[in-house]
Amino acid sequence: MSAMKEALLLEGSKIAKRVEESLREELRRIQSKYQESPKLVAIQVGTPPASALYVKKQKDTAGLLGIQHELLQIEETASESDVIQIIQDLNRNPKVHGIILELPMPAQIHPQRVLMAIDAKKDAEGIHVDNLGRLLMQEAKLIPSTALAAFELVLAAGVPLAGKEAVVVGQSKIVGRPAAFLLLEQKCTVTICHTGTAKRGFLEAHVKRAEVLIVAVGKPNMIPGSWIREGAIVVDVGINRVEGKTVGDVDFEGARSRAAFITPVPGGVGPLTVTMLMKNVVQAYLWQKDESRSQ
Ligand code: NDP
Repeated sequence: MSAMKEALLLEGSKIAKRVEESLREELRRIQSKYQESPKLVAIQVGTPPASALYVKKQKDTAGLLGIQHELLQIEETASESDVIQIIQDLNRNPKVHGIILELPMPAQIHPQRVLMAIDAKKDAEGIHVDNLGRLLMQEAKLIPSTALAAFELVLAAGVPLAGKEAVVVGQSKIVGRPAAFLLLEQKCTVTICHTGTAKRGFLEAHVKRAEVLIVAVGKPNMIPGSWIREGAIVVDVGINRVEGKTVGDVDFEGARSRAAFITPVPGGVGPLTVTMLMKNVVQAYLWQKDESRSQ
């Protein structure tokens, strides 16, 4: 009896190692040319437990790569203008090359307004409107790190993408939309699905067409395995806690017997996201030195 066919796993940590290797090389070049290493400053208002793990991961990854990392912890009672003032000081500081806002922020602070105060050239997360606009105009410099991670995993499948039917489920500014534009740049035919698609009952039909599928919704196992097209590349961005376990938006067990490539959850997009954040810090540094290439 032949063994059941199973998708190859797209493992974020393995791909992260490869990306980190090329970042190290670039960082060595930067060190020898400018005698410094790029610096990322993380701004945290209060001490929200939800961001603690991500902040630690950033610090650890930066440390391993030799990127400077500083965590600025601000009083929970700080006002929006206090935070904007701090950001403006960091914008002017030539020794700071990347800034990241750790979410959530306390209720008195509007994250989007604060984010807009960051100099686009120091926007390590690539979510400032100038950077999203550049992505749309095919002049991207800094791209949202989660979308970059999802896209890198699609590329890791090593399959030519031009002309492929690509479906992205979820249209958030930080994941779904930028991921869709990255696929469009590869000449995929891209469909973006959202609640409007689901409400009309068309989600299944779109997903079933997908040769490349990126799902970024945040609903456990919402894409049944039977919807996955044979031979598809499936990247599951979703992170959901169910009965103490982390699961994605795609029914992994059902999907892996149909897909050719699939990301596990955990272990797929998650481990690569911080690496892509560090890639953005290096890219931000080069942009500030007028050395950057479009991504
Ligand atoms: P958002 O909540 O901002 O966006 C969710 C999207 O899903 C929206 O566009 C929404 O549509 C769409 N949606 C909701 N329900 C349905 C449905 N039934 N059918 C189709 N589409 C639907 O989430 P994010 O983009 O920030 O995050 C998505 C997931 O990715 C989450 O699980 C999050 O935890 C995870 N994530 C993982 C990261 C990582 O590093 N691995 C980093 C960031 C996020 P509409 O616009 O119509 O409301």
